[in-house]
Amino acid sequence: MAKKQFKAESKRLLDMMINSIYTHKEIFLRELISNASDAIDKLYFRSLTDDSVKLKKKDFFIRLAAAKENRTLTVRDNGIGMTKEELEKNLGTIAKSGSLDFKNENETGGKVDVIGQFGVGFYSAFMVASRVTVRSRAFGAQEAWQWESTGAEGYTIEPCDKEDVGTEVILVVKENEGEEHYDEFLDDWRLAGIVKKYSDYIRYPIKMLREKSRAIEGTDKDEEGHYKAPEYETYTEDETLNSMVPIWKRDKKKVKDEEYAQFYKDKFGDYSDPARVIQSKTEGTATFNALLFIPSRTPYNYYTKEYEKGLQLYSSGVLIMEKCADLLPDYFSFVKGLVDSEDLSLNI
Ligand code: ADP
Ligand code: MG
Repeated sequence: MAKKQFKAESKRLLDMMINSIYTHKEIFLRELISNASDAIDKLYFRSLTDDSVKLKKKDFFIRLAAAKENRTLTVRDNGIGMTKEELEKNLGTIAKSGSLDFKNENETGGKVDVIGQFGVGFYSAFMVASRVTVRSRAFGAQEAWQWESTGAEGYTIEPCDKEDVGTEVILVVKENEGEEHYDEFLDDWRLAGIVKKYSDYIRYPIKMLREKSRAIEGTDKDEEGHYKAPEYETYTEDETLNSMVPIWKRDKKKVKDEEYAQFYKDKFGDYSDPARVIQSKTEGTATFNALLFIPSRTPYNYYTKEYEKGLQLYSSGVLIMEKCADLLPDYFSFVKGLVDSEDLSLNI
């Protein structure tokens, strides 16, 4: 089958993308998950006015599956899916954002917010994958299509079998090379950690089947009733990796001081409780939720060159920047915290 070339500038952009824009390779997962979440938002939005959408809010999910044997990592969603034309248009042209088109075409009246506004996120998959396959069936379509690419050389599109509406992005994870341990992206623990770090607040469940191990009941004693090391068995559990509700969006009165303190310590690496917690919501042309902490001690590296001021920046619950310096004046450089915006244009 003839290979199609990416549109003009796309090749160079893809090279740039793979090699420089993002310093942390792990963020590819955030990008794929936010695309999945956007796609679900779109179908959910549609369900509000279209009775032929049978799914209810609780039926939507994103699922991760890693298979070490064949080095694949799959991110699956039951969102709106893509037609053949959409696969071409959305994945064949870098920096062409379908989400932006959707936002412009629909008066969404604040019912749905779409994270991605610049068409580059998807390509971050090539930072960790030697091949990316996208299998998709659009809502309302009878047939499904498969898009496949190994990077800058181009891509192929062909028909495929897919029962359900939605999209499956399958990465063949690169072999380790030198310092780069791509293997980690096939590891359940690591994947769960990345989801916690960047996508905890995605409002649909991000699920993964996990192998776990437990002591077999009654095997911790020998025949004479003396305690011994128990026998273990492995079992599989379907786990939801994200908590779905950001603490800063919960009702202030219902969040306990300990919860704020725990969140502060987890997120900002302090071992003492904060001296003050400030939570605020600003509504207007833009909606911002802010959660700020005044540390009770001087940060250990405060007087060193390494200390960087800044707040975490979220867009609709997805972490997009670890330290946004512009959000803090110098005289508040000791403040920790985050700002979440509902309608922020993503800027890399
Ligand atoms: P952005 O999300 O900023 O628009 P991306 O490069 O991340 O840019 O994705 C490009 C486009 O591909 C999206 O706008 C969307 O139209 C389409 N797309 C990507 N992933 C999915 C998915 N899982 N389901 C449906 N459409 C998708
Ligand atoms: Mg995106």
